[in-house]
Formats: sequence, C-alpha cells, structure tokens
Amino acid sequence: MDSRVIGILGGGQLGRMFIEAANRMNIEVRVLDPTAKSPAKQISNFVEHIDQPFTSSEAIKQLAKECDVLTVEIEHVNCDELAKVEKLGLAKVFPSSSTVRLIQDKYLQKCYLEEHKQSLPEYVKCDTLEEAQDAGRKFGFPFVLKCRLGAYDGRGNYVVKSENDVAAGFKFLGGKMLYAEKFVPFVKELAVMVVRRPSGQVETYPVVETAQRDNICELVYAPAQIDGQVRQQAMKVATDTISCLPEGSAGIFGVEMFLHEDGRTVVVNEIAPRPHNSGHYTIEACGTSQFENHLRAVLDLPLGDTNLKVPAAAMINVLGGSDGISSVLDPCLASLEVDGATVHLYGKAEAKLARKMGHITVVADSALQLRRRTDMIVGKLANASS
Ligand code: ATP
Ligand code: MG
Ligand code: MG
Repeated sequence: MDSRVIGILGGGQLGRMFIEAANRMNIEVRVLDPTAKSPAKQISNFVEHIDQPFTSSEAIKQLAKECDVLTVEIEHVNCDELAKVEKLGLAKVFPSSSTVRLIQDKYLQKCYLEEHKQSLPEYVKCDTLEEAQDAGRKFGFPFVLKCRLGAYDGRGNYVVKSENDVAAGFKFLGGKMLYAEKFVPFVKELAVMVVRRPSGQVETYPVVETAQRDNICELVYAPAQIDGQVRQQAMKVATDTISCLPEGSAGIFGVEMFLHEDGRTVVVNEIAPRPHNSGHYTIEACGTSQFENHLRAVLDLPLGDTNLKVPAAAMINVLGGSDGISSVLDPCLASLEVDGATVHLYGKAEAKLARKMGHITVVADSALQLRRRTDMIVGKLANASS
C-alpha cells in the first residue's frame, strides 16, 4: 500500500489498535516504548522496535532516522526533540511538535483556544496558593484545580469544594504547575473524533456521549442521545476547535466537550492529539476506524468514511478491578454470548486497579436493542472503585 515506515511514540493500547489497522494495509510501524512486550509491540513482528522511554532524545532521534513519519499515541512526549526532528528534516512529524506542545500543557491549550475564539469554561493561571484563593473568589465553589502537564484519567485534577478546601487542593497537587477552571454544571459529556490532513481538510465522526466514573471513561454511546440543535452545535465546536490548530496538525484528534445544564451550551473540555478512548467504537461501527483514518492522515492519503454504518453502538471499557483478572475476563466472557459484541483485550501484563485492560464494542439495530445488549455485559463489570 505504501512503503513509508511510521514511527510511533508510545506502545500502549492505542498504538496496538493503530498497528492493527496498519498491518491490514501492510504498512510498517516501528514502536518507541520502554516496555519490551508492550501491547503494541506484541502484535508487530517488526524486529527493530526501540525499548526506550518516549521522552528520550537519543531514542527519538534514532526512531526518526529509521522512519519516514513520526506520530504519537500519547501527548506526554519530548516536544523539543520532535521539533529538532522537524528542523533537521529527519522525518515528518504528525501532529507537529508545536501542536503536541500546545495540547500537552492544558493551560496553554486553553489560552490558544481562547485566542481563537472557541467556547471554553472560564480558567485562570494559578501558580501560588493566593492565586488559587483568588480563583475561588472569582469562580465560586466548587471549582477545579488542574495540573497543566502530565494529566490523564483525572489524576491531575482536584475539585475544590469550599474556601477551606483551597489549601488542601493546592497541597494535594503539590509542586506541579497548575491552573484553575470554573466548575461546569454539565448534563452530559460529549466527544467527537476529528481527522485532519496536512492540507488542513477535516472530517468529523458522529457526536458521542461519554460517561466517566471516578474520572475514567466507562461507557461511550454513539450516536449521543441529544437533540438535533445540540448535535449541530457540538459538531461545529469540534470542527472549529481542530480547524484552528496550527499548520501541520495532521492526524486524528479527540475533542471532549461539556453540554451545560441549560441544555444548549457546548464548551470544550480538552483536546487529545491522538486516537481517543471515545473513538474506539469506530472500529466496528463506522466506515473507517479512527485508527485507519489516523494512518491515512499522517501519510496524507485520502480519508475514509467517518459515518456510522450501524444505527447504534456502545463501547464499554474493561478496567482492572479489585478481584484481579476475573474482573477483566468476566465481562469479556459474558460478551461472547451477546450478539453484536466484539472483545478487545490489550495484552497488558497485570490487571492493576482501574487500569484500562480492554474494551467491548456493542452494535445494534436500535437504541433499545443496544441498551439490552449493553446491560448484559455491564452487569458483569467489576466495581473498579470497590
Ligand atoms: P483524560 O484521561 O480525559 O485526559 P484528564 O486527566 O485530562 O483526563 P479532564 O478531562 O480535565 O482530565 O477531567 C476529567 C473529568 O473530570 C472530565 O471528564 C469531567 O468529568 C470532570 N471535569 C473536568 N473539568 C471539569 C470542569 N471544569 N467542571 C466539571 N467537571 C469537570
Ligand atoms: Mg486529558
Ligand atoms: Mg479528559
């Protein structure tokens, strides 16, 4: 299909599903990840994967020399080194280092989106305890203190409940660069995957509804159960958000959004510059999956169909639970008896509590049938927080 070799920084489940798409099209992918048997490396027989951290300058340089295009499956990478790769012309980098740099710092991301007139929750920089107290006075309570860098699964967030709680929040996130955000009284969390070619052309996937528990995505429903106006609004917010990114922002992006309790206002929560958990359903439910479209975008090939090819779909995350491997296998085994269900297991060595071990996609002919099928599996999920 294409003789170019792609290097990917990070070799977890997103890299694994990316390689599944690349394998089918006979495109070589080389992985940079510290774990020798990482989920992505397991399904690729390529001999020259690199067993080094994806923050290592040396390793990124080596990967760039051996590949035509570099991409990421995680935003917490070494952007200085990616910028050098671009400058020296060692390989193309998609999304560009400047895009990843902008997105990996959630505060800079907010500033950029505000400059480009996108709708956001109010936010403010917060370097000191005094500034955090000012944020409480400005936004009221609760408000959210967030780490600027390295955040995932809500681990860098603290919901400040009252004036007396500000110091505790500051201490909890201690020592990290922070910013504060107004608490959004949302009724639903929505997400849209958007794919962008190097030319800037964008295509959007349907609006989905995501449900998080303890800040971790638990379920995704496609399409979202929202009225047409909200759907149009969410599509517009997602398209505008990705369209305004700097030149060179090619690849797939996830746009997380809040639907305000007023039932009409949609604001951006954050962008992911890579395949996203809310887009896993696209493998079974859309014309072309988020992973294949990411591959096509970074190679500047024509993009595939982003529409749903089934009336309704859901994605259920399978997390490590308090009873180890059975909390992972029980819902997977249950799903084998459910029509329309497809199991994905990521091959992670240990089922640690709340770790993403796999997911199950369910497709159906109607919302009612989807609910029935999904319920049969959700009932078998272990309570990860118990
Ligand atoms: P991810 O794994 O998605 O990258 P993250 O660590 O970057 O997560 P966020 O997406 O900022 O964290 O927040 C995690 C969850 O916390 C959100 O999905 C939402 O449920 C809740 N949340 C975040 N910000 C706000 C806010 N301003 N108001 C209300 N709830 C919020
Ligand atoms: Mg995030
Ligand atoms: Mg998030």
